Amino acid sequence: MKRDYYEILGVPRGADGAAIKKAYRQAALKYHPDRNPDDPEAEERFKEATEAYEVLRDSELRALYDRYGHEGLRAGVGGGGGGFGGFRTFDEALNIFMREFGGFGFGDLFGMGRRRGARTRGADVKIRIKLTLEDVMQGAKKTVRMPILDTCPDCQGLGTRSGGQPATCAHCGGTGEIQQVQRSLFGQFVRVGPCPTCGGEGRVISDPCPACGGEGRRRLDKSFDFEIPPGVATDDYLTLRGQGNVGPRGGPAGDLLAVIEVEPDSRFTRRGGDLIYDLPVTFSQAAMGATLEVPSVTKKVKVKVPAGVQTGHVIQLRGKGLPHLRRGGQGDLFVRVLVVTPRELTPEQRKLFEALAEIERPVEAGEDGAGLWQKVKDALFD
Ligand SMILES: [Zn+2]
Ligand SMILES: [Zn+2]
Repeated sequence: MKRDYYEILGVPRGADGAAIKKAYRQAALKYHPDRNPDDPEAEERFKEATEAYEVLRDSELRALYDRYGHEGLRAGVGGGGGGFGGFRTFDEALNIFMREFGGFGFGDLFGMGRRRGARTRGADVKIRIKLTLEDVMQGAKKTVRMPILDTCPDCQGLGTRSGGQPATCAHCGGTGEIQQVQRSLFGQFVRVGPCPTCGGEGRVISDPCPACGGEGRRRLDKSFDFEIPPGVATDDYLTLRGQGNVGPRGGPAGDLLAVIEVEPDSRFTRRGGDLIYDLPVTFSQAAMGATLEVPSVTKKVKVKVPAGVQTGHVIQLRGKGLPHLRRGGQGDLFVRVLVVTPRELTPEQRKLFEALAEIERPVEAGEDGAGLWQKVKDALFD
């Protein structure tokens, strides 16, 4: 049974981003491996706090968690494969900690001396996923193959030909930083900057891996599975955390962002979860009423057009629109009636219209169309 994320960080449910980050920092420092060497219990706590932080700092994941709990994260938006399932490794948690409190190694924060060389995080990768309205209706599984900077298999990301660990940089002694004492008008001060010899990594490679040139990463074809929940819209995105380009020489990976692009569907106008469909009807259908078929996204539905209907009349079919991504439930289908005047008449039709003209009551000015467009607007844009 997983513990509650808010409880793990010791913050109230309404805590803002700054409070969450602060609480995470406290917890992570308390359980950090540098302070608790070879303590599996502390490692677990460290991972747990980092996982809680990763969810609560991301507004989309947090909303899912608030609504559905841990179950929602496994099934929902964001996260690897079928959702956010926590970390596989302790290293991932460490990388996140480094990402957040970055530049500083742990030693710096506590004056404990040892500093890990800075490891550069890989770039985020953005891809676009095209969906039809049917995909939006039902949710979709999509597999995308694409080249991505991944750990070099020849050197396991170390960047060395021998497969051994890179040597500690002699210039900075492995800290990745050099201190320079500078004098100015205001006195003497110490400037700290990245070591020029190792570029701040604290390690140097004298025998670069020929496959990756010492980068420790190569562009490799990978395939990614996306489980897209129903109800998404263009520009929504899913995040596969840590699935983007890896950093050089074992640096943590960026994220893979899949940006949704819903292809237009000529049948409907979409407004969030609601759909608008224009239904053409004939004079006689408008005058006498009719039961007609209209399309919803995946099937046809029947709609009763009342007798005496006017152009612009809107019939609301509740729950026949698209699913709502976050709040659950389904939008509505608005059927907008459009009375179509015949462009041509057969001789027989003409006779009937002539007969009708003899007996029909003339239309008074302002009798119908008055306020019509206001009604249309009220129905659709309130
Ligand atoms: Zn160096
Ligand atoms: Zn390599």
